[in-house]
Amino acid sequence: MTKQETLVTFQGVRKQYDDFVAVKTLDLEIGRGEFVAIMGPSGCGKTTTLRMLAGLESPTEGTITIGGKVMNDVPAHERDTPLVWQSLALFPFLNVQENVEFGLKMRGVPDFERQPRALMWLERMGLKGFEKRRIDQLSGGQRQRVALARSLVTEPEMLLLDEPLSALDAHLVIRMQGVLTKLQKELGITFVYVTHSQSEAFAMADRVVIMGQGEVAQIGAPRDIFRAPRNRFVAEFVGRNNIFTGLGREGRDIVVAADRISVTRDKPEGPAIKAEFLSEEFVGTAILCYFETPEGEELKAQVTEEQLEALGAEPGMAFWLGWAPEAAHEMEG
Ligand code: ADP
Ligand code: MG
Repeated sequence: MTKQETLVTFQGVRKQYDDFVAVKTLDLEIGRGEFVAIMGPSGCGKTTTLRMLAGLESPTEGTITIGGKVMNDVPAHERDTPLVWQSLALFPFLNVQENVEFGLKMRGVPDFERQPRALMWLERMGLKGFEKRRIDQLSGGQRQRVALARSLVTEPEMLLLDEPLSALDAHLVIRMQGVLTKLQKELGITFVYVTHSQSEAFAMADRVVIMGQGEVAQIGAPRDIFRAPRNRFVAEFVGRNNIFTGLGREGRDIVVAADRISVTRDKPEGPAIKAEFLSEEFVGTAILCYFETPEGEELKAQVTEEQLEALGAEPGMAFWLGWAPEAAHEMEG
């Protein structure tokens, strides 16, 4: 992490429900103004982690601090940590503006001050003219922006988001990603964003925390995690990677990303492995080709349309999959 000031620390945090351990031991620091994404498969403990930060759960062991203060047992309503999640709790009996003013009202902000602040946030979220609408007269994306305005109107130093875009259509997800990153940069407040989606986490976050089964598997900048996964779990969860068992020093596993693999009929110089072409899949502008080694291991190579055409690949044909030695990353475990 850079030298920015630390806002949040998790130290040896564990969360247990009866005898079920949801979070094993979590050690994590979050800097002031940082956009951190917590990513991992369903059930790995992401929501539990965020709820502990929001004050909706207390850790069973360990310490959570915010701004240097121990927060373990400080309830949500005494914190400055609003949480936005997918089935957002907007009040159907209040209109858009009243929903946004709600948080201020709860904090005893007087009427004459509430209104301009709510209107300013609605405008900022592109909702000018929608003030008097009922919630059920809004689209999914608009509701999400009302929820954001409601959380941000109190000007918290940190915003917690739990899969906030998972109920939206794909095109809206991309748009909201843009809205969120822009907002976070402009406001300079800390965002802690939970998602199971790699593209969301990697598109938005300064740092990504990869969780697996109640533990941190890796923390790093998106690019570092993408290019240098620490272990097999991360390599399989992130990106389009090939894992070569025991090819590294002292029999360690190495990983080579699919876009760093060259596919040729003739054996290339440098490291390469022979495999049979299985099938192809369009992935955006590239084509992902699947191969199988004689030992039955599946490999992937990302090529362009022209490259695939030039190869004339048909299922069952054998190719050499090669890579530059520096494209291989040796894993720790
Ligand atoms: P994620 O958000 O990563 O999908 P959660 O943090 O919601 O995962 O849950 C982690 C694990 O803890 C899951 O196996 C879940 O069933 C369990 N869990 C979460 N909340 C409770 C609870 N209140 N009581 C018992 N088990 C829970
Ligand atoms: Mg969850």
